[in-house]
Amino acid sequence: MGTPRESRTDQAAEVVDRLEEAYPDSTISLRYSNRLELLIAVILSAQCTDERVNTETEHLFETYDGPEDYANAPQDELAEELNSITYYNNKAKYIRSACQTIVEEHDGEVPDTMDELTDLSGVGRKTANVVLQHGHDVVEGIVVDTHVQRLSRRLGLTEEEYPEPIEQELMELVPEGYWQQFTHLCIDHGRATCTARNPDCDDCVLADICPSERGDSEIDLASGEPW
Ligand code: SF4
Repeated sequence: MGTPRESRTDQAAEVVDRLEEAYPDSTISLRYSNRLELLIAVILSAQCTDERVNTETEHLFETYDGPEDYANAPQDELAEELNSITYYNNKAKYIRSACQTIVEEHDGEVPDTMDELTDLSGVGRKTANVVLQHGHDVVEGIVVDTHVQRLSRRLGLTEEEYPEPIEQELMELVPEGYWQQFTHLCIDHGRATCTARNPDCDDCVLADICPSERGDSEIDLASGEPW
């Protein structure tokens, strides 16, 4: 078991420093070429890998161009386009409805406020944060996905269980200039080393400051269960 820094603020700063060194090119892995494509890719990525989403959207983005195309697409046709993605039926509904709202209420433009974004179908705070950060260069919060959730708990940054309270806590700890990058660093480390089922603590740059480190710690703080 590693020994965390004295305060959670210091722990967060140390985690950011080390992960930045380990993953200097960390960034979003979804592919898109405009804000609408970003919004659609993020909606599709819920409970689905970015890799799978990128494979599907390559063709999707060639077929549909602009919010009217999605809003006017028959449900069956759009769902069929997405059928290798988890919950594709619901996601097709969300995309059609969100695009209808974008056409009718936002002159065809993806809105740039948290409130307007979260009013769109299928868009929660996490999706809105990604679109604000990468589509509009507005950083209002920290995107808390499954990797951020798991790593923040394992590293002793939070004991909260759900994304929104975790985000609130992280916003107190992580320097504001790193809110966007913190997510990408956690995702990269979560994919490469601190995986959900079998983290490679022996080869982890955070091992000496991680209270969940498997060498001595018997508990995975992410789940609260024994390793
Ligand atoms: S891989 Fe192990 S040591 Fe590293 S952050 Fe995850 S649980 Fe902690």
